[in-house]
Amino acid sequence: MSEGAAKKEEKPGKFQAIRGTRDLLPPETALWNRVEQTAREIFGTFGYGEIRPPIFEPTELFARAVGGETDIVSKEMYTFVDRSEKLELHTSIGNLGVFLQKVRQLYKSGEISQESQDQMGLELVENQSKKVNDLLAGTSKSEDASRDIYTLIMLFEALRLGNDISLRPEATASACRAYIEHNMQQLPQPVKLYYMGPMFRRERPQKGRYRQFYQIGAEVLGGTDAPAIDAEVIEMVMTFFEKLELKGVQLSVNSIGCRECRPKYVELLRAELLKVKDKLGPDSQRRIDTNPLRVLDSKVKEEQAIIEKLPRIGDHLCKQCADHYAAVKRELDLRGVKYRENWRLVRGLDYYMRTTFEITAQGLGSQDAVCGGGRYDGLVELLGGPPTKGIGFAIGEDRLILSLQESGKAPVAQGRDVYIAWMGENARGTAVRAAKALRSAGFSVELPPVEQKFGKALGQADKLGAKYALILGDNEVTSGEWTLKTLADGTQQKLTEPQLLDFLRKS
Ligand code: AMP
Repeated sequence: MSEGAAKKEEKPGKFQAIRGTRDLLPPETALWNRVEQTAREIFGTFGYGEIRPPIFEPTELFARAVGGETDIVSKEMYTFVDRSEKLELHTSIGNLGVFLQKVRQLYKSGEISQESQDQMGLELVENQSKKVNDLLAGTSKSEDASRDIYTLIMLFEALRLGNDISLRPEATASACRAYIEHNMQQLPQPVKLYYMGPMFRRERPQKGRYRQFYQIGAEVLGGTDAPAIDAEVIEMVMTFFEKLELKGVQLSVNSIGCRECRPKYVELLRAELLKVKDKLGPDSQRRIDTNPLRVLDSKVKEEQAIIEKLPRIGDHLCKQCADHYAAVKRELDLRGVKYRENWRLVRGLDYYMRTTFEITAQGLGSQDAVCGGGRYDGLVELLGGPPTKGIGFAIGEDRLILSLQESGKAPVAQGRDVYIAWMGENARGTAVRAAKALRSAGFSVELPPVEQKFGKALGQADKLGAKYALILGDNEVTSGEWTLKTLADGTQQKLTEPQLLDFLRKS
C-alpha cells in the first residue's frame, strides 16, 4: 500500500446529520429567535404562560392520546426501551438465573410495566436457560448445543427489560398529562399554556417536512367550551402571523361534531365509501376500515370528484354542535378574523372534536399547512383526568420560517458594531478593557485574540461586516485619544473613551 493510500485510510469517517434532521445555523437562527420572541410577546398579551414538557414520554401516553390507528403512532414514532436502571447491564449465561429472577421482581413491582408479551418472553427465556444450564452441567445432551445457546441469546435479546418510551411526536398529550399531574384543575380556569420545541416523526423527508421539526403551540384547558374561546385561540394565531407579516395566510375552519353525532356520520360515510371502494386508491381503501374521515384528507387526483359527492358532516351535526359552530363563526366575525369553511378539514389526530382549523401560507409547495388545531374536550379524561374542555393548535415553525424566507424576510447576517484592531503589549490591555466597556454598554464587539497588523485587522473587520474599527496602537494608548474608523466611508476621528461611548450611542 502506498504511503498516500495508508494516510487516506487512517482518516476517520465524517458524520452527517441524520436524514430528516438538520442544523439550524446563523444567520438563519436570528429569524428563528425573532419568531419565537414574537410568539412569547403575542401569547403573553393573551394571558398564556409557557410550559416546557419533557422531550420523551411513555409510548402509551401518545398511543392513547393521539390514537393507535393514526399514522403517527402506528409508524412514525421514535420508540425505544428504556432499560431499567435497577438491572445490571452485564450478565453471562452462568448467572442468567439470578438475573431473570430480578427481572421477574421488577415486573411484579411495576418498575418495568407489564405486558403480556413480556411475560411470555420471560417464560421462554427461563425455559431455554434451564435447558442450556443442564447442557453446560452435563446433565443432559443436545444434538446441537450451539443452536440451543444461540436460541437463548436471541430470546434474551428480545426481552424487554424496561419501559417503552417515545420521543414526542406532538405536545398536546404532554400538556394534558401535565395538567392532570399538577392538579391544574384547581387553578383559575381555563389554564392557558404555550410551548415551543422539537417534535419527532419518522415521515418521508421533503421540503417543509422533517423528522425532527419544531412546533410552537398553545392549549386552553378547563373552564367552558364557549365558542368565544375557540375564536380567541384562532384570533391569537392570526395576530401572531400578522405581526410576523406572514404572506398569503388562509384560515380554514370546520366542525367535526362530537361523540354523539360524529360516530353516526362516520358510519354513514363508511357505508358510502364502501359503495365506491373500487374506485379509490389503496390508502383510502385501507382508511375505510381504520379511519374513514381521513379519506376526506386525500390529495389523490382521481379521488377528488368522488369525495366531493360524499355526505358532508355539516349536514349531520347534532343541534348543540351546529349551534356551537355557528357561534364560533359569529365570534370570528366579531374579531374581524377572515376564514373559509372547508367541510373536508378533519385533522389527522383522533382527539379532535367540534371546531377544527388549519392555516396555510404562501411559498410552501405541497406542504403548505403552517398551523393546525382544534377542540379536544374528551382528551384529559381519556388520559385519566377529570372531564375537561380543551382546545389548542400547533404551528409548524420550520414551515413558518420557510414561508417568511420565501417572501424575503431573511435576516441579514449579524455584523459587529466595533472591531478592535490592536498592536503591541500596551494596547492589548487597553483593548481588553475597551471591549469590556463597549460590551457592557450593549455594543457587539470583536476582539482579535492575537496581535495582527493593522491592514489585516481592517480587512477582517470588513469581512465581518463591522461598522467601526477601533484602532489602538502605542500612540493611542499614550495619548488616551483613540482612533475610530468608520468602515463604510473610511473616515477617521480621534476620541477619548467617554467621547467614543457617547459617539457610538448617538450613531
Ligand atoms: P399536527 O401536529 O400534525 O397537527 O401538525 C401541526 C403543524 O406542524 C402542521 O401544520 C405543520 O406545519 C407542522 N408539521 C407537522 N409535521 C411536520 C413535519 N414532519 N415537518 C415539519 N412540520 C411539520
